Amino acid sequence: MSNRQTKTDVILIGAGIMSATLGSLLKELVPDWEIKVFERREGAGEESSNELNNAGTGHSSLCELNYTVEQPDGSIDISKAVKVNEEYQVSKQFWSYLVNSNLIRNPREFIVPVPHMSFVQGEQDVTFLKKRFEALSNNPLFQGMEFSDDPEKLMEWIPLMMKDRALDKPVAATRIESGTDVNFGALTRTLFTHLKSKKVDIKFKHNVDDIKRASDGSWELKVRNVDSDTVERHTAKFVFIGGGGGSLHLLQKSGIPEGKGIGGFPVSGLFLVCQKPDIVAQHRAKVYGQAPVGAPPMSVPHLDTRYIDKKESLFFGPFAGFSPKFLKYGSMLDLVTSVNTQNLATMMAAGVKNVSLTSYLIKQVMLSKEKRIEALREFVPNAKSEDWDLLVAGQRVQIIKDTAAGKGTLQFGTEVISAADGSIAALLGASPGASTAVSVMLEVIKKCFPQQITAWEPKIKEMIPTYGVSLVNNPELVHENHASTARTLGLSEGLPLQKARRTVS
Ligand SMILES: Cc1cc2nc3c(=O)[nH]c(=O)nc-3n(C[C@H](O)[C@H](O)[C@H](O)COP(=O)(O)OP(=O)(O)OC[C@H]3O[C@@H](n4cnc5c(N)ncnc54)[C@H](O)[C@@H]3O)c2cc1C
Repeated sequence: MSNRQTKTDVILIGAGIMSATLGSLLKELVPDWEIKVFERREGAGEESSNELNNAGTGHSSLCELNYTVEQPDGSIDISKAVKVNEEYQVSKQFWSYLVNSNLIRNPREFIVPVPHMSFVQGEQDVTFLKKRFEALSNNPLFQGMEFSDDPEKLMEWIPLMMKDRALDKPVAATRIESGTDVNFGALTRTLFTHLKSKKVDIKFKHNVDDIKRASDGSWELKVRNVDSDTVERHTAKFVFIGGGGGSLHLLQKSGIPEGKGIGGFPVSGLFLVCQKPDIVAQHRAKVYGQAPVGAPPMSVPHLDTRYIDKKESLFFGPFAGFSPKFLKYGSMLDLVTSVNTQNLATMMAAGVKNVSLTSYLIKQVMLSKEKRIEALREFVPNAKSEDWDLLVAGQRVQIIKDTAAGKGTLQFGTEVISAADGSIAALLGASPGASTAVSVMLEVIKKCFPQQITAWEPKIKEMIPTYGVSLVNNPELVHENHASTARTLGLSEGLPLQKARRTVS
């Protein structure tokens, strides 16, 4: 067992989209800082950021019904939808900057245009969708959104979903062309290739076992080489814990007071996947529905055109489930070992409060393939079991903490937890997720480098022209931003996908 000790400016733990994004931002802001990355797996983007482990939706609230909430007076609150949309514009701007600066190439390999749609059935949901459409469609961020409750129009938009549908209740949909499908796995790998070319030291098969504060205020990491089982010590002035589901354990090990009392609850995901070209060709959209009653927001069902490795397929899901693992390639002991004296009461309170969620997840785990196909038939009425395969996706660890809403409250968003002196930060939670990586990592930078941020602002504005500006109040800027990112990322060139066959027999 060796015990080598090396020092660096920045250590990023985990090679997912978050570390990839933070590393890429920092390399532009302070090119001479030394950055190291430790990843327990063999390569980058193998956990939640992998293309097969998430839904690849560029979340911008164009189709996700849970981002627009109906108020008691019947009005629709669009504030979350606007926030998520603006955050996605920030991501697209940074990716465009990287492409325009020749730091990354071939955006087509990680982002393609796919219309985003919402689809509902039944009078109540149709009324909601219409109100949502009215609240959004005049907003510059959602320009181009269309609504229809005409089955013929819907047949044109989503033939696979309308064919053989019993029209015994009203149906309606919204559609917007400017949606995207993002291969976050490809993007993560591309960013790590770029970081490697900038001399970032990336060590795969290196597990961070422990993090301790050193006497000079820096952080000492105990890193285990998975192959040789040797241990190295690495010290850094700043550490980002980008371990996805593995972040909570590492945050707890750091011992910072800001991380105390926080727990995590894992929710796993499963998709049904179809790769039959004749079926795939009948659908070209990401179509989000309403979550079943009692279901957590991350299990909103959707039927998506996915574009992975230049091949088209359809994904339906995600079906939620329960596994005590915090990472797809994690340990069955993850949940148990995350409970300690500091979060026990919070976790117990959450257990009592979330009995219905737990029973929902257990029921989801028990679903047979045939039952899952029945759920799919709400979207594709004539779906046949033999055309669809089950795929195990990634794990999401939802944050549990005491909030104004009460003890042991389950949170569904992401949260940056950082030490008061800014020397360490962790990202917890998983939604809206990868789409908002750039905004979330800018938040890390703002929180952890308050002394440098003013000097860095001109460069940040060069990378993200609308940084610090509210797009929703600047319709012209929205238009300009849409046009320039679409041009750079190849989103205005039309689809690489084979055209959907509109004639359905
Ligand atoms: C089913 C599902 C669907 C989703 N759909 C979408 C979507 O449509 N759109 C969207 O924007 N987001 C979506 N997300 C969320 C998105 O995938 C995540 O928010 C994002 O990938 C998280 O990136 P990350 O870098 O934080 O974590 P990860 O990609 O999980 O990376 C963390 C890395 O850290 C490594 N690691 C962990 N512990 C250690 C350790 N101790 N030492 C060394 N390395 C370690 C892991 O091996 C892993 O490679 C979805 C997630 C799931 C599970």
